[in-house]
Amino acid sequence: SEEKFDAIVVGAGMSGNAAAYTMARSGLNVLQLERGEYPGSKNVQGAILYANTLETIIPDFRDDAPLERHLVEQRFWIMDDTSHTGMHYRSDDFNEQRPNRYTIIRAQFDKWFSGKVREAGGTVLCETTVTKLAQDLSGKVIGVHTDRTGDVILADVVVLAEGANGLLGTRAGLREMPKPENVALAVKEMHFLPEEVIAERFGLTEDEGCVIEAGGTISRGMAGLGFLYTNRESISLGIGCLVSGLASTMEKPYALLDAFKGHPSIRPLIAGSEVKEYAAHLIPEGGFKAIPQLFGNGWVVVGDAAQLNNAVHREGSNLAMASGRMVGESIFQIKCRGGAMTTQNLSLYKRMLDRSFVMKDLMKHKDMPALLHNNRQSFFTTYPKLISQAAQNFVRVDGTPKIESEKATSAAFVKARSRWGLVSDAVRLALAWR
Ligand code: FAD
Repeated sequence: SEEKFDAIVVGAGMSGNAAAYTMARSGLNVLQLERGEYPGSKNVQGAILYANTLETIIPDFRDDAPLERHLVEQRFWIMDDTSHTGMHYRSDDFNEQRPNRYTIIRAQFDKWFSGKVREAGGTVLCETTVTKLAQDLSGKVIGVHTDRTGDVILADVVVLAEGANGLLGTRAGLREMPKPENVALAVKEMHFLPEEVIAERFGLTEDEGCVIEAGGTISRGMAGLGFLYTNRESISLGIGCLVSGLASTMEKPYALLDAFKGHPSIRPLIAGSEVKEYAAHLIPEGGFKAIPQLFGNGWVVVGDAAQLNNAVHREGSNLAMASGRMVGESIFQIKCRGGAMTTQNLSLYKRMLDRSFVMKDLMKHKDMPALLHNNRQSFFTTYPKLISQAAQNFVRVDGTPKIESEKATSAAFVKARSRWGLVSDAVRLALAWR
């Protein structure tokens, strides 16, 4: 007779691995399908791993997970074309027994995570693309079609962990395509440098790491951010902008990345490096208001495919892992009670998400994506230029009396935004943040 799985997980990224691992460890019969040659081969991320979420899934992950550097320093930069104004936070508190954040390389990390799924008893099939969800006449999802065999593979529930594209769910009519103003396209390069050079340039010892997040004229009037993450022997460097912005400005992502790399504040940090990888990937950035229906008869959706991404705090992988774990636990609980994978029963997943940081954080920043998108010119071009000029007026010594240089600074702000504009920007930002 045909084998029927307790659950099929589509995708072996952060959310899929967390879901598959959680279910396999509880003894469920799980099949995980990944289109890449190996888990992680298709995945792109900065990448910062937030330890706390992984700890709730695999408490002793530090024993054997491929980790690059633990982060001790975070730099936030506001950039214009020739300068950056920064806020840096560095603390020796981050040199703790169980560090809070690490840089990782997804290709290695996903392979490791997938190994854990297998050890826990899950069946993982790579180079297998799920082409379509199998539905019965009532619309209930009963399994998947793949590019491997003509037959349907059956399961009680299908977990869609297919990442930002989310084509399967869209094709099955379970949700809409993400809108262009709700997804960013990010491009990224890996710059290889000797370990000692990285340590010296960023003032790091041993496996300490540093991260730079940068916004300003580098995104050429679009809502977007640049980033630089230190790995052990490489630097990940990239920039992402909303797809709607790229479509309307016709800017090419690789041209933006070239300009970012050539910026006088970035260039010396990567000088002499060897570039080995170039990748592009989507990031869901619509936040709370872009979250689609998360469960239905025989299916659930997790991670980026569910738009669970906190663009304000640059967190995605942790929301992906947390949602994967919660789906796994919900399915296990329903099974234990002898329940079927109905819409009603699977709503347990949504209730767990609502109680967790995932929904609370996304809810908190629900107005932020639209505010940044609708005011992209002011927030990503006008203010960065004004702030740079203000900083320069403050530090440059050229015989101008301070009273005059300070007047010039405030006059520039009023000229660019008007008094009323400045107050209203500040109020709107504060309201969206609270
Ligand atoms: P993914 O990791 O995208 O995994 C989806 C998987 O499904 C892939 O392996 C794919 O091959 C597979 N798949 C898709 N369709 C099919 C199919 N039909 N059949 C079979 N397999 C399929 N987050 C952070 O927390 N920290 C960061 O520093 C950070 N930096 C980022 C930088 C960049 C440039 C980008 C693009 C993202 C970054 N993110 C970061 C976000 C983070 O990468 C995502 O939130 C996270 O990867 C989501 O995990 P996921 O499992 O939902 O999706």
